[in-house]
Amino acid sequence: MKAEQLAVAGVRRLQPYQPGKPISELERELGLTRIIKLASNENPLGSSPKALAAARSGLSELHLYPDGSGFELKTALAAKLGVDFEQITLGNGSNDVLELAARAFLSAEHAAVFSEHAFAVYPIVTQAVGAQARIAPALRYGHDLDAMAGLVDRNVRVVFIANPNNPTGTWLSREELRRFLGLMPEQVIVVIDEAYFEYVREPDYPNALTWLDQFPNLIVTRTFSKAYGLAGLRVGYAVSSPEVADLLNRVRQPFNVNSLALVAATAALADEDHLARSVHLNGEGLKQLGAAFSQRGLRFIPSAGNFLAVDVGRPAAPVYEALLREGVIVRPIANYGLPNHLRVTIGTLEENGIFLSALDRVLGS
Ligand SMILES: *Cc1c(COP(=O)(O)O)cnc(C)c1O
Repeated sequence: MKAEQLAVAGVRRLQPYQPGKPISELERELGLTRIIKLASNENPLGSSPKALAAARSGLSELHLYPDGSGFELKTALAAKLGVDFEQITLGNGSNDVLELAARAFLSAEHAAVFSEHAFAVYPIVTQAVGAQARIAPALRYGHDLDAMAGLVDRNVRVVFIANPNNPTGTWLSREELRRFLGLMPEQVIVVIDEAYFEYVREPDYPNALTWLDQFPNLIVTRTFSKAYGLAGLRVGYAVSSPEVADLLNRVRQPFNVNSLALVAATAALADEDHLARSVHLNGEGLKQLGAAFSQRGLRFIPSAGNFLAVDVGRPAAPVYEALLREGVIVRPIANYGLPNHLRVTIGTLEENGIFLSALDRVLGS
């Protein structure tokens, strides 16, 4: 008997998520000591010192279960975002809430729509529940909302949209996205994944929370993993109508967010200085890398996030491997349908410089 034959059909066909290579793994493999990781869109400034202090003080209570209602974090989020407490669903990272949406709204009779080059978690959570995935071809690397709308019929229950998208960094304007929401039938749940919301500075970029009152079928997801620098603790959230939040909370594990994550995220939310410094540094780094790529004649996709997808003009896998030997971890994105691109997270200005020198050696320019 093969275990695989026992698995449900969606799981048998599932391609597992490929995370960025951890620093410790490269250390073990190559015996390198000076390694920089620009592979997982983590905050190069680290966590807020206030979040770290809160996590430290939480250590004395590790024998207790966390607050399963997430009262303090949800209260702080509600105040900060101007929404009601009942509209928030906490997750073990926002990946968790994306999965809750799939489990609450999709089954083998249903389909989900998303874009080519979109975030890898959408196909995974869709397939895991046995639903059909309908993938719209990208438009200039980004979401083609008309093509996506064209895939929506009676069977579609969920549309996943990343704004900005990972790994491309492309973003949708207020007008485009608002129009798309207006086109969606009421039985379609639209998930707008704003994992990079805090970083975005483009003036036409919308805050999807402002549409929740008009669209009861909208779910907006955000995370503490990126600009808030808490990827290791795993905490994210969804904001929706209270009715949708109630459904998401029914499938949520009662203690899905751990106690250190709850207190650290609450403290991080209050540390506006750290967030502002992180966003500023990211803007500088985007300019630095963008200018350096242009100077080298390398094309890149304009990005609103904390990363850039650069076309290295040849298959990117060997370039990725050679960068590893230089002690620089970036992300190959062939599995996203972009075999000549590497996705580089914006680091500190120094880390960006180290990456560029290594890239020059590797590309021989
Ligand atoms: C990083 C990322 C997430 C968030 O992951 P977490 O589970 O919150 O760490 C969600 N969506 C996109 C598009 C991302 O890039």
